Amino acid sequence: MKKIKKYLVLPVVLVLSISFSLEVSAYKFNDDNNRFFKCSTCETAYPSYSWGDNMGGSSVIKSAWQSAVSDWKSKQSKVEFVYSSSSDSKLHSFHSTDKSLYGEMRWTSDLLKFVTKFNGYINNNANNITTTNVARSTANHELAHAMGLDHVSGTSVMNSSRDRATIYLPQTDDVNGINARYPVFKNNVLDEPILNKESDYNINNLSISSDILTFNSLEQMASNADVIVLGHFNHSKGTINMLRDPNNPKEESTLGYQKGLIYDFEIDEIISGNVSETMIDIGLRSDSDYLFTDRDGNENKISIDNPLFKSPNTSASYILFLSKDTNLDMYFTPFEPFKLIVDSQNKVNVETNLNEFQSSIEKSYEFEDTKEILNVISEAHYNWIDNISGTDVSDVKNIIKGQRMK
Ligand SMILES: [Zn+2]
Repeated sequence: MKKIKKYLVLPVVLVLSISFSLEVSAYKFNDDNNRFFKCSTCETAYPSYSWGDNMGGSSVIKSAWQSAVSDWKSKQSKVEFVYSSSSDSKLHSFHSTDKSLYGEMRWTSDLLKFVTKFNGYINNNANNITTTNVARSTANHELAHAMGLDHVSGTSVMNSSRDRATIYLPQTDDVNGINARYPVFKNNVLDEPILNKESDYNINNLSISSDILTFNSLEQMASNADVIVLGHFNHSKGTINMLRDPNNPKEESTLGYQKGLIYDFEIDEIISGNVSETMIDIGLRSDSDYLFTDRDGNENKISIDNPLFKSPNTSASYILFLSKDTNLDMYFTPFEPFKLIVDSQNKVNVETNLNEFQSSIEKSYEFEDTKEILNVISEAHYNWIDNISGTDVSDVKNIIKGQRMK
Protein backbone atom coordinates (compact mmCIF):
# COMPACT_ATOMS: atom_id res chain seq x y z
CA MET A 1 0.00 0.00 0.00
CA LYS A 2 2.68 2.49 0.99
CA LYS A 3 4.52 2.10 -2.31
CA ILE A 4 1.40 2.81 -4.31
CA LYS A 5 0.62 5.92 -2.34
CA LYS A 6 4.05 7.39 -3.02
CA TYR A 7 3.68 6.87 -6.74
CA LEU A 8 0.23 8.39 -6.74
CA VAL A 9 1.13 11.51 -4.80
CA LEU A 10 4.15 12.53 -6.86
CA PRO A 11 2.52 12.89 -10.31
CA VAL A 12 -0.43 14.84 -8.85
CA VAL A 13 1.87 17.37 -7.21
CA LEU A 14 3.89 17.76 -10.42
CA VAL A 15 0.83 18.35 -12.59
CA LEU A 16 -0.56 20.90 -10.15
CA SER A 17 2.67 22.86 -9.91
CA ILE A 18 3.24 22.88 -13.68
CA SER A 19 -0.24 24.20 -14.54
CA PHE A 20 -0.03 26.69 -11.67
CA SER A 21 3.24 28.21 -12.84
CA LEU A 22 2.09 28.38 -16.47
CA GLU A 23 -1.09 30.27 -15.65
CA VAL A 24 0.23 32.62 -13.02
CA SER A 25 3.34 34.12 -14.56
CA ALA A 26 4.10 33.41 -18.17
CA TYR A 27 5.58 36.89 -18.62
CA LYS A 28 9.32 37.30 -18.07
CA PHE A 29 11.54 40.24 -17.17
CA ASN A 30 14.72 41.08 -19.11
CA ASP A 31 18.06 39.81 -17.76
CA ASP A 32 19.11 43.27 -16.62
CA ASN A 33 15.80 43.85 -14.73
CA ASN A 34 15.33 47.24 -16.36
CA ARG A 35 12.35 49.53 -15.79
CA PHE A 36 11.46 53.19 -16.09
CA PHE A 37 11.81 55.40 -13.04
CA LYS A 38 8.71 55.93 -10.94
CA CYS A 39 8.71 56.82 -7.22
CA SER A 40 7.74 53.75 -5.23
CA THR A 41 4.44 55.26 -3.99
CA CYS A 42 3.53 56.66 -7.42
CA GLU A 43 1.14 54.96 -9.85
CA THR A 44 2.72 55.87 -13.18
CA ALA A 45 6.12 56.29 -14.86
CA TYR A 46 6.24 58.91 -17.66
CA PRO A 47 9.18 58.17 -19.99
CA SER A 48 9.61 60.71 -22.78
CA TYR A 49 10.51 60.04 -26.42
CA SER A 50 11.16 62.01 -29.59
CA TRP A 51 11.41 61.04 -33.25
CA GLY A 52 14.73 59.64 -34.49
CA ASP A 53 16.18 58.59 -37.85
CA ASN A 54 13.99 58.60 -40.98
CA MET A 55 10.88 59.79 -39.13
CA GLY A 56 10.13 62.94 -41.14
CA GLY A 57 6.68 62.95 -42.75
CA SER A 58 4.19 60.15 -42.33
CA SER A 59 4.96 56.47 -42.76
CA VAL A 60 3.71 53.02 -41.79
CA ILE A 61 6.48 52.91 -39.18
CA LYS A 62 5.66 56.30 -37.64
CA SER A 63 1.94 55.47 -37.30
CA ALA A 64 2.91 52.10 -35.81
CA TRP A 65 4.92 53.82 -33.06
CA GLN A 66 2.09 56.33 -32.47
CA SER A 67 -0.50 53.53 -32.23
CA ALA A 68 1.69 51.52 -29.85
CA VAL A 69 2.13 54.50 -27.50
CA SER A 70 -1.66 54.82 -27.22
CA ASP A 71 -2.23 51.03 -27.19
CA TRP A 72 -0.06 50.68 -24.09
CA LYS A 73 -1.69 53.72 -22.50
CA SER A 74 -5.18 52.28 -22.93
CA LYS A 75 -4.19 48.85 -21.58
CA GLN A 76 -2.53 49.80 -18.28
CA SER A 77 -1.66 52.75 -16.04
CA LYS A 78 1.92 51.98 -14.92
CA VAL A 79 3.86 53.40 -17.86
CA GLU A 80 2.76 56.24 -20.12
CA PHE A 81 5.07 57.33 -22.95
CA VAL A 82 5.03 61.11 -23.48
CA TYR A 83 6.29 62.91 -26.59
CA SER A 84 8.89 65.60 -25.92
CA SER A 85 10.92 67.10 -28.78
CA SER A 86 13.96 67.45 -26.48
CA SER A 87 13.99 63.81 -25.36
CA ASP A 88 17.24 61.81 -25.76
CA SER A 89 15.19 58.64 -26.18
CA LYS A 90 14.16 58.14 -29.77
CA LEU A 91 11.94 56.02 -31.98
CA HIS A 92 13.36 55.29 -35.44
CA SER A 93 12.73 53.67 -38.78
CA PHE A 94 15.51 51.90 -40.69
CA HIS A 95 15.99 49.68 -43.73
CA SER A 96 17.88 46.43 -43.21
CA THR A 97 18.28 43.76 -45.87
CA ASP A 98 17.75 41.19 -43.10
CA LYS A 99 14.01 40.63 -43.56
CA SER A 100 13.77 38.45 -40.43
CA LEU A 101 14.63 41.49 -38.28
CA TYR A 102 11.41 43.35 -37.47
CA GLY A 103 12.80 45.67 -34.86
CA GLU A 104 15.24 46.28 -32.08
CA MET A 105 15.22 48.08 -28.73
CA ARG A 106 18.47 49.37 -27.23
CA TRP A 107 18.40 50.80 -23.73
CA THR A 108 20.90 51.89 -21.12
CA SER A 109 20.22 51.57 -17.40
CA ASP A 110 21.86 52.79 -14.20
CA LEU A 111 22.83 50.94 -11.04
CA LEU A 112 19.24 51.07 -9.79
CA LYS A 113 18.17 49.38 -13.07
CA PHE A 114 16.25 52.46 -14.13
CA VAL A 115 16.33 53.10 -17.88
CA THR A 116 18.42 56.19 -18.64
CA LYS A 117 17.85 56.21 -22.40
CA PHE A 118 16.15 54.01 -25.02
CA ASN A 119 16.25 53.80 -28.81
CA GLY A 120 13.62 51.78 -30.64
CA TYR A 121 13.99 50.72 -34.29
CA ILE A 122 11.56 49.19 -36.81
CA ASN A 123 12.78 47.73 -40.10
CA ASN A 124 10.70 49.08 -43.01
CA ASN A 125 12.00 46.16 -45.12
CA ALA A 126 10.96 43.30 -42.76
CA ASN A 127 8.82 40.43 -44.04
CA ASN A 128 5.22 41.69 -44.64
CA ILE A 129 5.92 44.86 -42.61
CA THR A 130 3.29 46.85 -44.56
CA THR A 131 0.55 44.25 -43.90
CA THR A 132 -2.06 45.83 -41.60
CA ASN A 133 -0.97 45.83 -37.93
CA VAL A 134 2.37 44.03 -38.47
CA ALA A 135 4.50 47.14 -37.78
CA ARG A 136 2.18 48.05 -34.88
CA SER A 137 2.74 44.59 -33.37
CA THR A 138 6.51 45.19 -33.56
CA ALA A 139 6.17 48.67 -32.01
CA ASN A 140 4.18 47.30 -29.06
CA HIS A 141 6.79 44.54 -28.67
CA GLU A 142 9.74 46.95 -28.67
CA LEU A 143 8.16 49.40 -26.20
CA ALA A 144 7.57 46.43 -23.86
CA HIS A 145 11.33 45.62 -23.94
CA ALA A 146 12.08 49.17 -22.77
CA MET A 147 9.45 48.79 -20.03
CA GLY A 148 11.12 45.56 -18.83
CA LEU A 149 9.60 42.52 -20.58
CA ASP A 150 11.52 39.66 -22.22
CA HIS A 151 10.33 37.12 -24.82
CA VAL A 152 7.86 34.38 -23.91
CA SER A 153 5.86 31.70 -25.68
CA GLY A 154 2.04 31.68 -25.67
CA THR A 155 -0.47 34.45 -26.39
CA SER A 156 1.73 37.50 -25.98
CA VAL A 157 3.05 40.38 -28.04
CA MET A 158 6.46 39.22 -26.69
CA ASN A 159 6.23 35.89 -28.55
CA SER A 160 8.51 36.06 -31.61
CA SER A 161 6.46 33.37 -33.42
CA ARG A 162 3.14 35.21 -32.94
CA ASP A 163 1.02 36.10 -35.96
CA ARG A 164 1.86 39.80 -36.07
CA ALA A 165 -1.27 40.65 -38.10
CA THR A 166 -3.60 39.38 -35.36
CA ILE A 167 -1.55 39.70 -32.14
CA TYR A 168 -0.60 43.35 -32.33
CA LEU A 169 -2.01 44.74 -29.07
CA PRO A 170 -0.56 44.14 -25.59
CA GLN A 171 -2.19 40.90 -24.38
CA THR A 172 -3.40 40.00 -20.85
CA ASP A 173 -0.09 38.32 -20.06
CA ASP A 174 1.87 41.39 -21.20
CA VAL A 175 -0.27 43.71 -19.08
CA ASN A 176 0.16 41.37 -16.08
CA GLY A 177 3.92 41.59 -16.62
CA ILE A 178 3.94 45.39 -16.61
CA ASN A 179 1.70 45.53 -13.51
CA ALA A 180 4.12 43.18 -11.74
CA ARG A 181 7.16 45.20 -12.88
CA TYR A 182 5.79 48.48 -11.48
CA PRO A 183 4.29 47.81 -8.05
CA VAL A 184 2.89 50.69 -5.98
CA PHE A 185 3.98 50.68 -2.32
CA LYS A 186 2.37 52.48 0.63
CA ASN A 187 5.75 53.73 1.85
CA ASN A 188 8.82 54.72 -0.11
CA VAL A 189 10.94 51.63 -0.78
CA LEU A 190 14.46 52.04 -2.11
CA ASP A 191 16.29 49.42 -4.10
CA GLU A 192 19.79 48.66 -2.89
CA PRO A 193 22.19 49.61 -5.67
CA ILE A 194 24.79 46.95 -6.41
CA LEU A 195 27.96 49.02 -5.99
CA ASN A 196 31.43 47.72 -6.46
CA LYS A 197 33.11 49.57 -3.60
CA GLU A 198 36.60 48.54 -4.78
CA SER A 199 36.16 50.48 -8.00
CA ASP A 200 35.84 54.19 -8.67
CA TYR A 201 34.64 53.38 -12.18
CA ASN A 202 31.26 54.57 -13.43
CA ILE A 203 29.29 51.56 -14.62
CA ASN A 204 26.89 51.73 -17.59
CA ASN A 205 24.64 48.94 -18.80
CA LEU A 206 23.50 48.61 -22.40
CA SER A 207 20.93 45.97 -23.38
CA ILE A 208 19.66 45.07 -26.84
CA SER A 209 16.69 42.90 -27.69
CA SER A 210 15.08 42.28 -31.08
CA ASP A 211 11.82 41.20 -32.61
CA ILE A 212 12.78 38.40 -35.02
CA LEU A 213 10.46 36.39 -37.28
CA THR A 214 10.68 32.75 -36.17
CA PHE A 215 8.95 29.66 -37.55
CA ASN A 216 8.57 26.13 -36.19
CA SER A 217 7.36 24.31 -39.30
CA LEU A 218 8.57 23.57 -42.85
CA GLU A 219 5.14 24.62 -44.17
CA GLN A 220 5.52 28.15 -42.74
CA MET A 221 9.12 28.35 -43.98
CA ALA A 222 8.13 27.15 -47.49
CA SER A 223 5.41 29.77 -47.90
CA ASN A 224 7.52 32.71 -46.65
CA ALA A 225 10.75 32.32 -48.68
CA ASP A 226 11.39 33.67 -52.18
CA VAL A 227 13.69 30.80 -53.14
CA ILE A 228 14.65 27.44 -51.64
CA VAL A 229 17.91 25.87 -52.81
CA LEU A 230 20.22 22.95 -52.07
CA GLY A 231 23.98 23.50 -52.28
CA HIS A 232 27.07 24.53 -50.34
CA PHE A 233 28.82 27.63 -49.00
CA ASN A 234 32.25 28.81 -50.04
CA HIS A 235 34.33 31.01 -47.74
CA SER A 236 33.24 34.48 -46.73
CA LYS A 237 34.45 36.89 -49.42
CA GLY A 238 33.71 40.34 -48.02
CA THR A 239 31.31 42.52 -46.11
CA ILE A 240 28.36 44.78 -46.81
CA ASN A 241 26.52 47.40 -44.78
CA MET A 242 23.07 45.81 -44.48
CA LEU A 243 21.66 49.13 -43.25
CA ARG A 244 20.49 50.89 -46.42
CA ASP A 245 19.18 54.34 -47.25
CA PRO A 246 15.37 53.88 -46.88
CA ASN A 247 14.79 56.28 -49.81
CA ASN A 248 17.30 54.51 -52.05
CA PRO A 249 18.17 51.01 -50.81
CA LYS A 250 20.87 50.67 -53.49
CA GLU A 251 22.91 53.07 -51.33
CA GLU A 252 24.13 52.20 -47.85
CA SER A 253 22.84 54.15 -44.87
CA THR A 254 25.01 56.99 -43.60
CA LEU A 255 23.35 56.73 -40.16
CA GLY A 256 24.77 53.41 -38.99
CA TYR A 257 26.54 50.17 -39.80
CA GLN A 258 25.13 46.65 -39.68
CA LYS A 259 27.79 44.25 -40.88
CA GLY A 260 26.79 41.49 -43.27
CA LEU A 261 29.35 38.82 -44.16
CA ILE A 262 29.02 37.92 -47.84
CA TYR A 263 29.26 34.24 -48.79
CA ASP A 264 29.40 32.61 -52.22
CA PHE A 265 26.84 29.83 -52.35
CA GLU A 266 26.98 27.21 -55.08
CA ILE A 267 23.56 25.83 -56.01
CA ASP A 268 23.26 22.09 -56.75
CA GLU A 269 19.46 22.05 -57.01
CA ILE A 270 16.70 24.67 -57.06
CA ILE A 271 13.90 23.24 -54.91
CA SER A 272 11.55 26.17 -55.43
CA GLY A 273 11.58 29.71 -56.82
CA ASN A 274 13.31 31.38 -59.76
CA VAL A 275 17.10 31.58 -59.76
CA SER A 276 19.05 31.92 -63.00
CA GLU A 277 22.60 31.71 -61.60
CA THR A 278 24.38 28.68 -60.13
CA MET A 279 26.46 30.89 -57.78
CA ILE A 280 24.67 33.42 -55.57
CA ASP A 281 25.82 35.92 -52.94
CA ILE A 282 24.28 35.56 -49.48
CA GLY A 283 24.66 38.24 -46.76
CA LEU A 284 24.50 37.10 -43.13
CA ARG A 285 24.17 39.75 -40.39
CA SER A 286 27.04 39.34 -37.92
CA ASP A 287 27.22 42.52 -35.82
CA SER A 288 26.36 46.20 -35.73
CA ASP A 289 27.97 49.41 -34.51
CA TYR A 290 26.96 51.29 -31.40
CA LEU A 291 28.27 54.73 -30.43
CA PHE A 292 28.88 55.04 -26.70
CA THR A 293 29.18 58.64 -25.47
CA ASP A 294 31.60 58.77 -22.54
CA ARG A 295 31.76 61.32 -19.70
CA ASP A 296 34.08 63.56 -21.75
CA GLY A 297 31.46 63.64 -24.51
CA ASN A 298 33.52 61.50 -26.92
CA GLU A 299 31.78 58.90 -29.05
CA ASN A 300 33.37 55.45 -28.85
CA LYS A 301 32.46 52.85 -31.44
CA ILE A 302 31.76 49.38 -30.06
CA SER A 303 30.28 46.39 -31.84
CA ILE A 304 27.14 44.51 -30.80
CA ASP A 305 27.02 40.83 -31.80
CA ASN A 306 24.01 39.40 -33.55
CA PRO A 307 23.34 36.46 -31.16
CA LEU A 308 21.68 34.54 -34.01
CA PHE A 309 24.71 34.66 -36.33
CA LYS A 310 26.22 31.22 -36.89
CA SER A 311 28.98 30.94 -39.43
CA PRO A 312 28.19 28.30 -42.08
CA ASN A 313 30.13 25.07 -42.46
CA THR A 314 31.85 25.19 -45.85
CA SER A 315 32.11 21.39 -46.10
CA ALA A 316 28.40 20.72 -45.47
CA SER A 317 25.45 20.47 -47.83
CA TYR A 318 22.60 22.85 -47.02
CA ILE A 319 18.96 23.49 -47.87
CA LEU A 320 18.49 27.27 -47.60
CA PHE A 321 15.33 29.38 -47.41
CA LEU A 322 16.19 32.84 -48.77
CA SER A 323 14.75 36.21 -49.67
CA LYS A 324 16.05 37.95 -52.78
CA ASP A 325 17.03 41.62 -52.61
CA THR A 326 16.60 42.93 -56.17
CA ASN A 327 18.30 46.26 -55.32
CA LEU A 328 21.56 44.51 -54.51
CA ASP A 329 21.12 41.28 -56.50
CA MET A 330 21.90 39.36 -53.30
CA TYR A 331 20.12 36.96 -50.97
CA PHE A 332 19.36 37.45 -47.27
CA THR A 333 17.60 35.89 -44.27
CA PRO A 334 13.78 35.89 -44.53
CA PHE A 335 13.18 34.38 -41.04
CA GLU A 336 14.85 32.17 -38.44
CA PRO A 337 15.78 29.39 -38.83
CA PHE A 338 16.60 29.37 -42.56
CA LYS A 339 19.45 26.80 -42.83
CA LEU A 340 19.06 23.01 -42.85
CA ILE A 341 22.20 20.85 -42.96
CA VAL A 342 21.88 17.60 -44.86
CA ASP A 343 23.64 14.73 -43.03
CA SER A 344 25.14 11.49 -44.40
CA GLN A 345 21.84 9.64 -43.83
CA ASN A 346 20.02 12.23 -45.99
CA LYS A 347 18.22 13.70 -43.00
CA VAL A 348 18.17 17.41 -42.20
CA ASN A 349 19.36 19.18 -39.05
CA VAL A 350 18.33 22.75 -38.38
CA GLU A 351 21.36 25.01 -37.99
CA THR A 352 20.40 27.83 -35.66
CA ASN A 353 21.32 29.54 -32.41
CA LEU A 354 17.64 29.90 -31.49
CA ASN A 355 17.66 26.85 -29.21
CA GLU A 356 21.14 27.39 -27.80
CA PHE A 357 20.82 30.75 -26.10
CA GLN A 358 19.35 30.04 -22.69
CA SER A 359 21.18 33.10 -21.47
CA SER A 360 22.35 36.17 -23.34
CA ILE A 361 25.70 37.26 -24.76
CA GLU A 362 27.45 39.54 -22.29
CA LYS A 363 30.49 41.68 -23.06
CA SER A 364 32.27 44.33 -21.07
CA TYR A 365 34.23 47.36 -22.28
CA GLU A 366 36.51 49.49 -20.12
CA PHE A 367 37.26 53.15 -20.94
CA GLU A 368 40.39 54.05 -19.01
CA ASP A 369 40.46 57.77 -19.87
CA THR A 370 37.07 58.49 -18.34
CA LYS A 371 37.08 55.57 -15.86
CA GLU A 372 33.90 54.02 -17.22
CA ILE A 373 32.73 50.50 -17.85
CA LEU A 374 30.09 49.56 -20.40
CA ASN A 375 28.43 46.18 -19.84
CA VAL A 376 26.62 45.03 -22.98
CA ILE A 377 23.88 42.38 -22.91
CA SER A 378 22.49 41.03 -26.20
CA GLU A 379 19.26 39.40 -25.06
CA ALA A 380 18.37 36.24 -26.96
CA HIS A 381 15.62 34.12 -25.42
CA TYR A 382 13.36 32.94 -28.20
CA ASN A 383 11.50 29.86 -26.81
CA TRP A 384 11.97 28.10 -30.13
CA ILE A 385 11.16 24.39 -30.43
CA ASP A 386 12.79 22.26 -33.15
CA ASN A 387 10.08 20.23 -34.93
CA ILE A 388 12.14 19.85 -38.11
CA SER A 389 15.50 18.10 -37.46
CA GLY A 390 15.46 14.41 -38.35
CA THR A 391 13.16 14.78 -41.38
CA ASP A 392 14.27 12.98 -44.57
CA VAL A 393 15.43 15.27 -47.39
CA SER A 394 12.83 13.72 -49.74
CA ASP A 395 10.05 14.52 -47.22
CA VAL A 396 11.37 18.07 -46.84
CA LYS A 397 11.20 18.55 -50.62
CA ASN A 398 7.68 17.09 -50.80
CA ILE A 399 6.43 19.37 -48.00
CA ILE A 400 7.99 22.40 -49.73
CA LYS A 401 6.53 21.55 -53.15
CA GLY A 402 3.11 20.71 -51.68
CA GLN A 403 3.03 23.98 -49.79
CA ARG A 404 4.19 26.11 -52.72
CA MET A 405 1.57 24.66 -55.09
CA LYS A 406 -1.28 25.81 -52.80
ZN1 LIG B 1 12.14 41.23 -28.80
